[in-house]
Amino acid sequence: MPRGRAAVKPLFIGHDIFRRSTYGGRHPLAIPRVSACIDLCRALGWIDPDRYIVSPQATHEQLLRFHDADYLDALQSVEAGAALTPEMKARYNIGINGNPVFAEIFSRPATACGATLHAVEALREPGVIYSPAGGTHHGRPAQASGFCYLNDPVLGILAFLDQGVERLLYIDIDAHHCDAVQDALAGDPRVRILSVHEDGRWPRTGALRDDGGGTVFNVPVPAGFHDDDMALLLDELILPVAESFRPQVVILQGGADALAEDPLARLDLSNNAHWSVVRAVTGMADRVLVTGGGGYNPWSVARCWAGAWATIDGRDIPDRLPAEAEDLLRNITWQRSAGRNPPGHWFTTLRDAPRNGPITPAVREAVTVLRPRLASI
Ligand SMILES: [Zn+2]
Repeated sequence: MPRGRAAVKPLFIGHDIFRRSTYGGRHPLAIPRVSACIDLCRALGWIDPDRYIVSPQATHEQLLRFHDADYLDALQSVEAGAALTPEMKARYNIGINGNPVFAEIFSRPATACGATLHAVEALREPGVIYSPAGGTHHGRPAQASGFCYLNDPVLGILAFLDQGVERLLYIDIDAHHCDAVQDALAGDPRVRILSVHEDGRWPRTGALRDDGGGTVFNVPVPAGFHDDDMALLLDELILPVAESFRPQVVILQGGADALAEDPLARLDLSNNAHWSVVRAVTGMADRVLVTGGGGYNPWSVARCWAGAWATIDGRDIPDRLPAEAEDLLRNITWQRSAGRNPPGHWFTTLRDAPRNGPITPAVREAVTVLRPRLASI
């Protein structure tokens, strides 16, 4: 374990806006995620009050570090009740393409950004911070994209660089490629980006040989990518990248949509694989931020992210959940067909059964192609 870390207990950053606010209707994000994770952790007795931070909302000034003023003004005016004109729709990609207008269209994403920026400030000291609301990796400077209105990972990375950080490793295990993070930061010699994402899935960027000018490791993986594939990537690529680069700071975007039960992707991980990456990143640097990201099955997300916090905080995950936690999971409803008759283990356990298999050839090929680049970082 890196020097100085053992004495500092991890922090959890959340906010109740993620309980009140919803994208509405039949949107994939019309489900409880952050609030369900927090409630589950609380039911398990895993959140000490003195280590739970209520997220501030990022200020206009803070957001200007990456986002354009006119776009921020538009989000704020729409939240205040201004009509959304066809020009604004087209220009800012809001009210269309999966980026709906909803009551907290500015304050909700600004709170996720506030959480990340608060974490960056707190991580001037060694520590590990968990912010499941973060991870909105598709947000563009002046446009919403892929359900993301603002981009907290980019703002967080820029804030660390502004502090003087010289080696930052951003790892992204969301099923979707971190297109906007790569576009904003590829080529900056202070940053390495490593993304594992489903090949061919929206936004269809992040090809294996797209190295972002030498600073990006893209690992597109096929449908069916399973726990043993992730274990291979962790041992033969992700950990070696960290060992070569010796990051001062690591950010993990921990989207839960690479899990087998997610409705928007076709990867096949169990949450054990997700947690093995979480465990690994906590040992990669003195300063570590773990965020959420995608994840569209409310039970999978709540169980995965609660277990991620347990992993960060060194808590034992019980084989069978206590009654209060089980009740909480039983009270979640989901409009999709899989939500009508959920399997019992979604209520009674956190830990999935492992999903093993022979190593997928494309995964081995990715390691073969990318490993030689370690020598140059
Ligand atoms: Zn995603």
